[in-house]
Amino acid sequence: MAELRLTDNLKNVLGAATAKALDTGLRLRTVEDLLRHYPRRYAERGQLTDLAALEVDEHVTVMARVQKVDSKSYVDRRTGRRADRLEVVVTDGTGQLTLTFFKQSWRAKDLREGRVGLFSGKVTVFNRSRQLTHPDYVLIPDPGGTREPDSVLGDLPEADDSVLRYAGALIPVYPATAQMPSWKIASAVGIVLDQLPEDLEDPIPEPTRTRYGLPHLRGALLAIHRPESRDDVTAARTRLRWDEAFVLQTVLAQRRIAAAALPAVPRVATGRGLLEAFESRLPFTLTNGQVEVGTTIADDLARTHPMHRLLQGEVGSGKTLVALRAMLTVVDSGGQAVLLAPTEVLAQQHHRSVSAMLGPLAERGLLGGSDQGTAVALLTGSASTARRRQAMLDIASGEAGLVIGTHALLEEKVQFFDLGLVVVDEQHRFGVEQRAALAAKARDDNRPHVLVMTATPIPRTVAMTVFGDLEVSTLSELPVGRSPIATHVVPVAEKPNFLDAAWERIQQHVAQGRQAYVVFPRIGGDRATDEDTDAPSDADAVEKRRQPLAVLEWVDRLSDGPLSGLRVGVLHGRLPPDEKDDVMRRFTAGPASANGIDVLLATTVVEVGVDVPNATVMVVMDADRFGVSQLHQLRGRIGRGGHAGLCLLVTEMPQGTPARERLDAVAATSDGFELARLDLEQRREGDVLGASQSGTRSSLRMLEVLRDEDVIVASREEATSLVLGDPGLATVPALARAVAALLEEERADYLEKT
Ligand code: ADP
Ligand code: MG
Repeated sequence: MAELRLTDNLKNVLGAATAKALDTGLRLRTVEDLLRHYPRRYAERGQLTDLAALEVDEHVTVMARVQKVDSKSYVDRRTGRRADRLEVVVTDGTGQLTLTFFKQSWRAKDLREGRVGLFSGKVTVFNRSRQLTHPDYVLIPDPGGTREPDSVLGDLPEADDSVLRYAGALIPVYPATAQMPSWKIASAVGIVLDQLPEDLEDPIPEPTRTRYGLPHLRGALLAIHRPESRDDVTAARTRLRWDEAFVLQTVLAQRRIAAAALPAVPRVATGRGLLEAFESRLPFTLTNGQVEVGTTIADDLARTHPMHRLLQGEVGSGKTLVALRAMLTVVDSGGQAVLLAPTEVLAQQHHRSVSAMLGPLAERGLLGGSDQGTAVALLTGSASTARRRQAMLDIASGEAGLVIGTHALLEEKVQFFDLGLVVVDEQHRFGVEQRAALAAKARDDNRPHVLVMTATPIPRTVAMTVFGDLEVSTLSELPVGRSPIATHVVPVAEKPNFLDAAWERIQQHVAQGRQAYVVFPRIGGDRATDEDTDAPSDADAVEKRRQPLAVLEWVDRLSDGPLSGLRVGVLHGRLPPDEKDDVMRRFTAGPASANGIDVLLATTVVEVGVDVPNATVMVVMDADRFGVSQLHQLRGRIGRGGHAGLCLLVTEMPQGTPARERLDAVAATSDGFELARLDLEQRREGDVLGASQSGTRSSLRMLEVLRDEDVIVASREEATSLVLGDPGLATVPALARAVAALLEEERADYLEKT
């Protein structure tokens, strides 16, 4: 017989029928797929499953003891004849579960009182008791029993006794389906394990295994599927987590190293002194963090290879300023820098604030402008044709050293004179492909330097996994003089009059010369789907709820009611760009201006980046419709100046619901990292990674990004030094294959989506 290989198709090893069942239900196709289908948990001989914990509609595998067996007779509605129904009650000692078999009373011969077995099926409720109908099962050998070979029933061939014979004290319980109950999977795994070659190749090189005391792959696979003890399982799990982390980190190290080898033009601020001139105009001093990260970035920019850096920081930590200094460095060296914003509102705001901060320096060519200066071009998709044409001209001629815009900048016809730096603001809305599109716009074969900014703090391990091809810098301190934001939940279900109090607070703050936001989850109007219904997915799961509150439906109600006398503005994604710009200008101008706006009623278009330091109150309507990080971002719009901020989270959710707990968590802490972690923990792991590296979704089975920091950190180091010494992975063929498989999966995923 030919030697078994991990890449072999299961059809050739297990036969067509079993292979098909494994493929349809579980998408397991190769030997490796099957071996990497790890037990979810282990049933312990003599230890019964807690039946009280079973969830209705779940497919479960439980170990329980037969307590009572009853045969009942009933009339079959279809045939009109009498038939029998076997009802077997099994117990874990306290709870009970009923197993029901129609017209199979012969099973009573084996399912006798006192027998212990594994039972598998979907939990349903009948007559107020939980039951499994026609479960698959396998009985555990009766230690004191005199019966000859253990009786195994169902459709199982006698050979499946082997499953239990191999299983020591721990019986693996696999994620299973109706066609493939746990023990059938175990039996299939057993067949494969028995043929596993002695010299199975290991994707983790020997020196790494020795350094970290990791068992060989072969041993780990045997231990995870046929453990002798809990310790076996622990050791095997660690090793298998390493597998996943190591392969992923190898891919990322290869990318990082390849990217670092690309050519880039070094950008060292000399020449015009735009950076110095700008800094001397700043009304504040830089924070230590801003100085430190600034130095790191300046060093990166001076290299002959492109920078790939992620800048993360708490809301309001001053990331934009760090980016702007880098951009001016590049302009000073004679190149161009572009700032890519996720929304038009944000692009416009950046354009306004950069122009304002630069003052005359941003008016080269204009009368009264400075010779040192440069032009700042704004390019957005919905600007007028004439304006777009002018912007594109300035960009292509190099007249505009600083370029700010939205996705429109990615279009092929946008040509740069000499693009040196790409800054991507609020990264999570941009994909890898979009970054690549901009990277292709540099001169000759050079690549631009890239700085990605993210407003949602990313836990270190996630950064290393999802953005593992980027170096990470963090701004953790806020500029001095920031005032704290107090956040309160306004539970309108329990205290309806609290909402009135919220409007009064707005009135009070405005009377003191401050401004306010009222944020809604929906735009409203007649459209069925709104771009701004960004409700977290668990909110959707709550049975038919009313539509989220819509800003357009509240304008009159508020301005004629509790907010009367205040100047109210409305901002949402469907407004034409000029109107958005106008509203934001008037809100920024504030109470001092004749046509200023006091209260901005808005959707989540104000979620990221919007910067109006005079705004001090925010009321979030239907706050439970937003995610934790999103609320933290929203509230980051206030408390930016010297006045204390107040954020009111309005909700109808009753106390004790998960939604309310989320809001309480947001109210309880202002630490964005903590909230980001909470946010991630509440989602499935796949979603954490889904954001940008969907390919890794199915390849991470054992590794939990938030938990396994030590494994991720160590495997990143090991993978990096391996790839530096052996870029093609010639010395570790098993790893080369695993890397190729991961890339293939990523590619397939990508194709599926486009
Ligand atoms: P974020 O990191 O959330 O993008 P911003 O870059 O929008 O933060 O900065 C928030 C506000 O803080 C802006 O008004 C900015 O001008 C101001 N700011 C930035 N750096 C400093 C500093 N060192 N001292 C005081 N204010 C600062
Ligand atoms: Mg920002």
